[in-house]
Amino acid sequence: MSVHDANRLREQIATLGKSLFDRGLTMGSSGNISVRLDDGGWLMTPTNACLGRLDPARISRLDRDGRLLDGDAPTKESFLHRAMYDERPQSGAIVHLHSTHSVAVSCLPDIDPCDCIPPLTAYYVMRVGRLPLVPYHIPGDPALGDAVRGLAGKHSVVLLANHGPVVAGKNLEAAVYATEELEETAKLYLLLRGHNPRGLTPEQVAELEARFPRD
Ligand SMILES: [Zn+2]
Repeated sequence: MSVHDANRLREQIATLGKSLFDRGLTMGSSGNISVRLDDGGWLMTPTNACLGRLDPARISRLDRDGRLLDGDAPTKESFLHRAMYDERPQSGAIVHLHSTHSVAVSCLPDIDPCDCIPPLTAYYVMRVGRLPLVPYHIPGDPALGDAVRGLAGKHSVVLLANHGPVVAGKNLEAAVYATEELEETAKLYLLLRGHNPRGLTPEQVAELEARFPRD
């Protein structure tokens, strides 16, 4: 990958990070973004960085073994990203947020841990699909990485209980779109609780999955 391409990706991380922050999808210094590079390494947002005010030049660049090559030290949640990438060679970018409605769903006592949100809309099925819940772990616990690794082969999106979603996409734009789709569908799901909503039927979901296969 040329320096020019890496710099373009740094700019894209900062632009999309600010967009997510400005719309209230992430708060304070929470949330992190990474992009896989052609050499097997990654760009990753730094620890304690606010996604609304990223300096592209200070974004962490890691080699394929996770060693810091330049920029600030990476997010302490980098192990979540590694766990997803290890199982998903087809994924080029990951977004992890503590987005309010998705976190709210992750705290509900009665959700199906194999499928946290029902298929309410076609775009949710196309961009997120079946969403598993990863049991709660204290921040930084390496067992959380192992739990994510166990699901990431089959799922491009997982929801960490009482924490937030980890979303992989073929590129950064796709990962951001899927994150937004999840957050809006979580909001819809919460709005509809108690209303006995009519979701898509298994046949409608199967038709979407056949026509629009996810990565
Ligand atoms: Zn987190």
